[in-house]
Amino acid sequence: MANTSVRRYFKHLSDAITTIFEGMSITCSHFVRKPYTIQYPDRTPVRIQDTLPPRYRGILAVDLEICTGCLACERACPIDCIVIDAPKDQKTRQMQLTRFDIDIAKCMYCGLCSEACPTGSIHHTTEFEGADYSLESLIRHYVATPVAAYKAKKGEETDPVVAPILERGLAYIADYAEPVDMKKYKAAQEADPAA
Ligand code: SF4
Ligand code: SF4
Repeated sequence: MANTSVRRYFKHLSDAITTIFEGMSITCSHFVRKPYTIQYPDRTPVRIQDTLPPRYRGILAVDLEICTGCLACERACPIDCIVIDAPKDQKTRQMQLTRFDIDIAKCMYCGLCSEACPTGSIHHTTEFEGADYSLESLIRHYVATPVAAYKAKKGEETDPVVAPILERGLAYIADYAEPVDMKKYKAAQEADPAA
């Protein structure tokens, strides 16, 4: 009986010593291993934003040059993040954008506003760093001085400034309308993770 207890005692002792060494060997191996983690943001070889897929729903941006003032985005937002003022100018009878605010503190990045936009003016970017010191500063004001709302041309857009912006907007809409081919996407990511 006494022999069995002594044997069990030494067995436990040996198990304890073995497991301590096993654990310490794993811990110590990390001194010589290449780290899996990287320090953010100053130690990344490329900006994280540049490695995100194009459909990433980051902080919204607005291209006022192609905003028609239709208010579709404002109406589509389920939590009232967007406030637009677009009165008609009494002299010119043209719609003026006097206010276009987006509260990015409230925004849940659902994409409903950009889906409703007919020109791709309001769109998600790959930007996600929005931290600031106050809630007020998280309200993005896009109108500095009143601007005329965009009027779609019957034919092609010929204004050299507006045309490329509209092209970007329409490409954005078309891209979202297409279902993602995950096989192609994964293959492209594997070939070039920064693409
Ligand atoms: S992404 Fe969604 S929550 Fe954010 S402004 Fe657009 S509709 Fe509103
Ligand atoms: S951003 Fe788009 S949806 Fe919103 S008011 Fe302008 S054109 Fe209309």
